[in-house]
Amino acid sequence: MHKELTKSVQYLKSIGPKRAESFAQIGIRTIYDLLFYFPARYLDRTNILTSIKVVQYVSDGYEGEVTITGKVVDSEIHYYSKKQILKVRMKDATGFFECIWFNGAKFFKNYFNEGEYFAVSGKPVLTKYGHLQFVHPDFDRLAEAESKDFLNTGKIIPFYKLPKQLKETHIGDFSLRKIIFSTVETYSTFVSETLPEELLNKYTLLNICDTIKFLHAPINFGELAKARTRIKFEEIFYFECMVAQRKKLFATKHLGFSFKAKTNQLKHFLNSLPFELTSAQLKVLSEIRKDLESDVPMNRLLQGDVGSGKTIVALISIVIAISNGYQCALMVPTEILADQHYKRICRMFEPLGFITEILIGGQKKAEREHILSNIAAGKTNLVIGTHALIEETVDFKNLGLIVIDEQHRFGVVQRLELTKKGIAPNILVMTATPIPRTLSMTLYGDIDVSTIDCLPKERIPVKTILRGESKLPAIYDFVKKKAAEGVQSFIVYPLVEESDKLELKAATKHYEELKTNHLKDLSIGLIHGKMKWQEKENIMNEFAEKKFALLVSTTVIEVGIDIPNANIIIINDAHRFGLSQLHQLRGRVGRSSAQSYCILVTKDELALRSNNFSFSHEYLPTQIIERYKSSIRLNAMVNSSNGFELSEMDFKLRGPGNIFGIEQSGLPEFKYINLVEDVSLIQQAKDSAFELIGKDPELVNPNNLVVKNILLDKFSSKVQLAQIA
Ligand code: ADP
Ligand code: MG
Repeated sequence: MHKELTKSVQYLKSIGPKRAESFAQIGIRTIYDLLFYFPARYLDRTNILTSIKVVQYVSDGYEGEVTITGKVVDSEIHYYSKKQILKVRMKDATGFFECIWFNGAKFFKNYFNEGEYFAVSGKPVLTKYGHLQFVHPDFDRLAEAESKDFLNTGKIIPFYKLPKQLKETHIGDFSLRKIIFSTVETYSTFVSETLPEELLNKYTLLNICDTIKFLHAPINFGELAKARTRIKFEEIFYFECMVAQRKKLFATKHLGFSFKAKTNQLKHFLNSLPFELTSAQLKVLSEIRKDLESDVPMNRLLQGDVGSGKTIVALISIVIAISNGYQCALMVPTEILADQHYKRICRMFEPLGFITEILIGGQKKAEREHILSNIAAGKTNLVIGTHALIEETVDFKNLGLIVIDEQHRFGVVQRLELTKKGIAPNILVMTATPIPRTLSMTLYGDIDVSTIDCLPKERIPVKTILRGESKLPAIYDFVKKKAAEGVQSFIVYPLVEESDKLELKAATKHYEELKTNHLKDLSIGLIHGKMKWQEKENIMNEFAEKKFALLVSTTVIEVGIDIPNANIIIINDAHRFGLSQLHQLRGRVGRSSAQSYCILVTKDELALRSNNFSFSHEYLPTQIIERYKSSIRLNAMVNSSNGFELSEMDFKLRGPGNIFGIEQSGLPEFKYINLVEDVSLIQQAKDSAFELIGKDPELVNPNNLVVKNILLDKFSSKVQLAQIA
């Protein structure tokens, strides 16, 4: 790196030791660091209108967004029947306008001090009094000079994140902008190129110097877009290089075993199935079969909506592995699901002469040891257990296939556990929470993905209904009426806190209440996470045998449970559940040819009132974002029964980090790339990275020296990742 760039920011004009220290606290030490501190957002000055113009536009029927600047005249909180509404009055050279917040009045009030200047963007309306008004607009505080004249700033004004450490040394939006602009002018040309020339040409990407310039001070949006593309490409390209190397290394280090797919046992098994496989099931089976026949270990993710029939696909794969003489493990998220699978699979596998064992908590020590020794001796063909199975000290004689059911958090970690044990079995991971396409391309770049994209025929979509708590009596009546027709129901309560004791208390309380009051004529069962698995097993069996009309439950029934005669699920406090969790719960019904119902009960009035939200959440306080989000989630449930759509939405609402857990997924925090939107860019970067690594896996070619050094630099802390995977 050029030595000018490694100088401390203290050498810059208007930064002394104190300010240098405050920059250091936010990770900016050198001039180079500052050059890469890019704006968080931009204000398009070219579109700023006067208030009088906007009034005219709105009167003419214009419905788009506008940006307008003004000075705060006053701000006031009004009270309307318990609700607080913030009204901020502003004026520009041509007239007055007002901004309104229905939520977060107190929070926003602190933002708007009299006499300050702001740029306000949003959809303008005219009130019945003829006032120009913005509801929940986006806004940026401006220096006075900027509000009148955008000197020195070009036509697009960048806004940088302004952490409190900088504010404490009296750096404001305006001064930070000035510091950065002059740094960019003087130093950006010293930055050397960080992408291979060939790629810059192939995708007509900007060079790094122009990228830095255009990100800080774009003259127009075209330049800005190009600069953004370049910086995103670079970010994802290097990540993909790492993934590509990982995949290459794994394939060369670990030879798998190749299976013969057509066996007699498989033929018998297929003949015994009570239904025809769907075309989607056949398609994914042919993909799996190719993997099993090849000697590179399978590493495949099978995604398919709730009820799409993933289990049978797994079983067919298992039959292939066992009939080739190998052992299999089937891992599921809960013990009751393990138990449910165990019972069914034993019945299906007995005629084939396969021996199936279950390994879960609560088994007697002697029994457990007996099972473990059978597994070690190779007597057991299939072991079913929870996800803990892999971490435990289970020794297999010749483990050939692992199926992991209902798990999308399968990252590098588990594979690490396995390779530690010195084995490279085939792995099939199944999930009903499909991974957004971009993610399966990036993080799962070394995992192949198969998708079951249709449900078995004759399924009727579940009717989803959103109701307030005041409707509970009517809902209970509905449950009673249906019970008289022989239909069973689930009623789910959320966890009160992350505490087993409280969970137990809440579920028990509701159970007692329903039994003594609202539904006293019905037989009711109770199941919760605090029970031992044998108890849970008993309850589930009794429910399956129709001993109860209604099962009161916490989320223990969330995944996989299959009781076809249960056609109603009532989810209380539905606003407290995540979207994929709601979809999973809904998947407990709709498993027969009868009409099913999912009744979401909520206190969320916003959700009950409206079914369309758009929000710009950058400035909303967290509790408000949460409030909007639950409304969006509930309405999404009502409007969509498609797990793929819902998971994309969930992904947008929560961000990948929250869904997958950064630690577990091995996914870095991407700074520039948007995993939801930048699909084609990710694809290009991925192709380029895989091509490059494919030709030169160890990056020995001198032309690839830059790439090699950057990779070492970026991912040196992840060296372990590269080694294990
Ligand atoms: P999931 O994908 O949610 O794990 P399951 O494998 O539990 O779904 O399948 C749901 C139900 O559909 C089961 O009762 C299963 O027996 C049934 N099923 C699976 N495949 C088919 C098919 N091709 N035709 C009809 N029913 C099927
Ligand atoms: Mg399943």
